Amino acid sequence: MFIDTHIHLDEFKDLEEVLDRARGVGVDGFICVGYDVQSSKFSYSLSIQYNDIYAILGIHPHSASEVTNEFLNWICNVKDNRKILGIGEIGLDYYRNLSPKEIQLEAFEKQLSLAQELKLPVSLHIRDGYKDAFNILKKYKVNGVFHCYSGGLHFLEEALSLDFFIGFDGPVTFHNARELIEVVRRCPLDRILLETDAPYLAPEPYRGRRNEPAYLIYIAEKIAEIKGIDLEELSKITIENTKICFPRYAT
Ligand SMILES: [Zn+2]
Repeated sequence: MFIDTHIHLDEFKDLEEVLDRARGVGVDGFICVGYDVQSSKFSYSLSIQYNDIYAILGIHPHSASEVTNEFLNWICNVKDNRKILGIGEIGLDYYRNLSPKEIQLEAFEKQLSLAQELKLPVSLHIRDGYKDAFNILKKYKVNGVFHCYSGGLHFLEEALSLDFFIGFDGPVTFHNARELIEVVRRCPLDRILLETDAPYLAPEPYRGRRNEPAYLIYIAEKIAEIKGIDLEELSKITIENTKICFPRYAT
């Protein structure tokens, strides 16, 4: 059994089939992550509709201007629902820079302070902004996960020292993933979360095509291989990690 801890289910028109295929290979928990107002509301409604779907609500740096008081108030209104596991995906993306830097920084801090106030963990999207992200994170009492970790060996110690989990996705299966494989090797087992980020970032052998939660197994197999453990042990550890990172998952 595995939990896909980061997925965007609003992107699937054939949702029922996609979920069934995943359940069929042992993926039986889905954490659906919002990235703008519409997808956050959709994640929330799915979490109410399905037993095995959970929601994370927030605004991605690409859509940073959507962080309005109205949106933050909406989260405060629904915050007590146990299926809402955290705030995300939030962060900084200086690689694609689809929003101006100042707006990204402001949106990130507003959502971090909401997470701190609500005592909810965060799912972070950071690309090329690790230095700024660490400086900002030190100001808040928040935990969570570096989703699709891309900080390389350089930032791994610092990410771990903040007590964050490290999310690994399809890229660990890519043939040119030498540094990322070293990151997995050095990341303690009790800090690893498995995610697909589907429909994006499909692992080998589906690289370049639409990703789906059933493919989480390929990511799990690769990580088990790197760590020299069997799938059953990885399953046990990563389910436990998910419950520690997102305490509401355990309740
Ligand atoms: Zn994502």
